[in-house]
Amino acid sequence: MRKIAKNYYKTTRFLFLYKSFLYRFVTFTTDSEELQDQIIVNALNIKNRKKRITYIYDSACKIIDDYNAFENICGFKNCQCYLNRNTKYKYGCCRLCKYKSDTGCPTSNLACKLFNCSEVCSRRKVIKYEDLKILKVLSIRQRFVVKSDYFSLREDVLKDLYCYTLTFAIIRIILRLFKNIIVRNRKTYK
Ligand code: SF4
Ligand code: SF4
Repeated sequence: MRKIAKNYYKTTRFLFLYKSFLYRFVTFTTDSEELQDQIIVNALNIKNRKKRITYIYDSACKIIDDYNAFENICGFKNCQCYLNRNTKYKYGCCRLCKYKSDTGCPTSNLACKLFNCSEVCSRRKVIKYEDLKILKVLSIRQRFVVKSDYFSLREDVLKDLYCYTLTFAIIRIILRLFKNIIVRNRKTYK
């Protein structure tokens, strides 16, 4: 069993190594009581790549959901957010997405959860990408996907994250964006 020191996050550049085959049979521990430190260690102890990615993704979503729990951070009233008040638009920035609904988002999309417009940011503190150090467990390519994959179901984002090449993930993201625009336009002009 190998123990990681409390301040291991100062050396996150080695996380890629801890995930590698070399550490396949190593169990990581930490003395830190910080939630994100514990999540990173739990993730490193998940040796299956897909399960580890899923765990990190869901944990990041949960951190944001817990932080915003019971708060209407976009000020929705009658499906109109702060920015859409006194306009004809409904659903805030979700109006561009085919998954929007009167009861909120039906999925768990990390890119959308990390997006907060200037209006929201001026009213309250929000969790930003930089606050989620657990994302350092993901590769640079996967972090790019996490930040870019708007308007997608959780399951589709996870499939993008599982991809081994960025090109393939980007093709999937672009195709879905086109599909989203087509479906949205069809609904708009019905
Ligand atoms: S982030 Fe801004 S534009 Fe989007 S729903 Fe919230 S208040 Fe509206
Ligand atoms: S996936 Fe994103 S844009 Fe679509 S409904 Fe959910 S939060 Fe809104």
